[in-house]
Amino acid sequence: MCYLNGKEYDEIVKEVFDLYQDYLLTSFPIDVKSLAAKMGIKLIPYSSLLKEDRECLLQNEETKDGFHTCKTDKGYPEFAIWYNDLDQKARWRHTIAHEIGHIILRHGSKASEKQEAAADYFAKQLLAPSYVLNFLGIREIGDIVSNFQISYESAFYTLKAIQNYRDKYGDVFMGCEADFVNWARRWLAS
Ligand SMILES: [Zn+2]
Repeated sequence: MCYLNGKEYDEIVKEVFDLYQDYLLTSFPIDVKSLAAKMGIKLIPYSSLLKEDRECLLQNEETKDGFHTCKTDKGYPEFAIWYNDLDQKARWRHTIAHEIGHIILRHGSKASEKQEAAADYFAKQLLAPSYVLNFLGIREIGDIVSNFQISYESAFYTLKAIQNYRDKYGDVFMGCEADFVNWARRWLAS
């Protein structure tokens, strides 16, 4: 298991917050497909592929959930996310969010273990931002799963992150998370 340091976690939260602001993500569950489309990222579901190509991707540990590609067109990068839409919804939502993370965090096509951990944290914060959940007073794993459409496993970690934060800081929000919560407070109230 590869862990990031506090500063690296904070930087990822900041990137996620920027996405929320840039694309006006103001309701849950986050629509990851529409977000990718707005970002100009092409989505390629495995169900649209030829059976033999799909089987090949599903058999490979590195591509069974999804991956992203980048080709350059007239000097501009064109990103595509290939994802296993035959899997459970919570899982492919995480896959798309994870690949958006790799793209935003500018990881190359061959991500290191640390970059994988970063993309996973990015995906969790994008789909269920723990600071906003903390502010909303969400403490039940079932509520997280149903309202944010993430897996039980992800919801468990989100809950753990909320508890760790509360143990450390109580009800006080600091730095970037305070900005994120204040911004969310405005649209959550309306
Ligand atoms: Zn990855």
